Amino acid sequence: MLLKDKVAIITGGAGINGLGFATARLMALQGARVAVLDLARAEPGEAATQLGDGHLGVVTDVTDKASCEAAVAEVLKTFGRVDALINNAGITQPVKTLEITGADYDRILDVSLRGTLYMSQAVLPAMRTQQSGSIVCISSVSAQRGGGIFGGPHYSAAKAGVLGLARAMAREFGPENIRVNCIAPGLIGTDIIKGKLTEEKKAEIAETIPLARLGRADDIAGACVFLASELSAYCTGITLDVNGGMLIH
Ligand code: NAD
Repeated sequence: MLLKDKVAIITGGAGINGLGFATARLMALQGARVAVLDLARAEPGEAATQLGDGHLGVVTDVTDKASCEAAVAEVLKTFGRVDALINNAGITQPVKTLEITGADYDRILDVSLRGTLYMSQAVLPAMRTQQSGSIVCISSVSAQRGGGIFGGPHYSAAKAGVLGLARAMAREFGPENIRVNCIAPGLIGTDIIKGKLTEEKKAEIAETIPLARLGRADDIAGACVFLASELSAYCTGITLDVNGGMLIH
């Protein structure tokens, strides 16, 4: 098992069809004790129960620093350590540049970018004490190609910000054996696109992808397990493209 006795935190991990829950499930199968953090309405406790015994669900709003700190304190009280953080919580909005309001900008950037910072700040002291840890940040292909599939420009900006933040943290904490990497998923069939892309549009997009299909949540889960485990011990500051070849250049 790749994550035996490791403790992993996954933000936005309670959506049963989402990337976060798929990652939680695979990490649990690989021997990890998993803490699923999510908003109250997503019922993280229920999601943790579905993983089996010995996992934890904590209501957390990643845009609220005190909430992030309280969640990590609960994880440390329960499990005594934290080996991996998956910064997965994110929201999107399909609008064009001229339609983005200040409130939209705040909402989108706060969850992906501020949330990644606050959660990383919350786990780093414990990882520092351990002198080990792996932080995985979920960016998006839309950061690299300037959107064009689904999310608006503010979403691309938030996810590009995540790439910069992760690389800077990788430099800062590398000497303490704390690795920070990103995953840039392509288009994955989860609730985030539910009702927002027609089947026709999805088929059209699939035709442009070398692997000829949209991604599955498990495709991202595998990449998260790789980056959280010792298999990737010499990787930090990387962006792992998991997009079916959508961005070959
Ligand atoms: P999803 O909507 O199923 O999952 C997002 C989760 O984040 C939900 O469980 C939601 O409750 C949670 N969340 C939202 N705001 C939160 C907050 N303030 N605090 C804590 N949790 C919060 O979507 P998904 O497709 O599984 O997306 C997961 C991540 O992957 C997101 O960061 C998304 O931007 C990114 N991503 C998704 C795709 C895709 O095609 N699905 C592509 C690239 C990147």
